[in-house]
Amino acid sequence: MRYKTRDSDTLALSNVNLEIKEGEFVAVVGPSGCGKSTLLKLVAGLISPTAGKVIVDGNIVTKPLLNVGIVFQSPVLMKWRTVYENVSLPLEVLGIDVKSQHDHILGLLELAGIGDFAKNYPKELSGGMQQRVSICRALVHNPGILLLDEPFGALDAMTRNRMNLDLADIWAKSRKTTILITHSVAEAVFLADRVVVMSFRPGRVQAVLDVPVARPRTVETRSSPEVGQLIQKVGSYIGFEYS
Ligand code: ADP
Ligand code: MG
Repeated sequence: MRYKTRDSDTLALSNVNLEIKEGEFVAVVGPSGCGKSTLLKLVAGLISPTAGKVIVDGNIVTKPLLNVGIVFQSPVLMKWRTVYENVSLPLEVLGIDVKSQHDHILGLLELAGIGDFAKNYPKELSGGMQQRVSICRALVHNPGILLLDEPFGALDAMTRNRMNLDLADIWAKSRKTTILITHSVAEAVFLADRVVVMSFRPGRVQAVLDVPVARPRTVETRSSPEVGQLIQKVGSYIGFEYS
């Protein structure tokens, strides 16, 4: 993937070859600017590769996919809509009758731990809760693929740990094919089936490590020696400033 502007020419990704199985949870770690967000946008069909191809469900991606839900680092909620109305927005855009999905929407809010806040406005919620809303919004049209671009990067450490546990739970219940981009090696290891380590520009896949840790993943998982060793191993590829 090459970005060309009038005064710059950036080779963002080069020779990236990655296959992700249906229902798999893959985490991607790597330094800033190594093309992680670019990779997600390519998968979502939001941008087109300048060489090579992206294949989802056997089809070459040529336009934005409807079968994905995306969560960005900032929740980007509409402040004049309630939590419920923010979550139902993709349904409106897709022309799906919101009323028919009422129970589904409430179920998602419940699953994400914000069942009591359906009628609240974004400004009445903490950053962590706002991000829970954006996770619900990403899941509301029941996409096969969930793309998470540093979703917890702006949260404090305690909230982030809580969100990790809850995301593990949400994933276990929905089993979406998931790509999570994160700066936290611990988060990557805790959540994923595989961790992809990317190297700096042009972004390449430097290593892919299996995380053969039992599920469900719980608070105890985090402090297990097995997880500790994997964190060390991933960290050794990218330097410990990221762990
Ligand atoms: P990461 O998410 O890993 O921090 P990005 O995918 O955002 O990295 O960016 C990878 C590289 O591509 C960076 O050098 C960035 O400046 C460049 N880049 C990203 N988007 C654009 C764009 N729309 N136009 C030009 N360059 C871009
Ligand atoms: Mg990014």
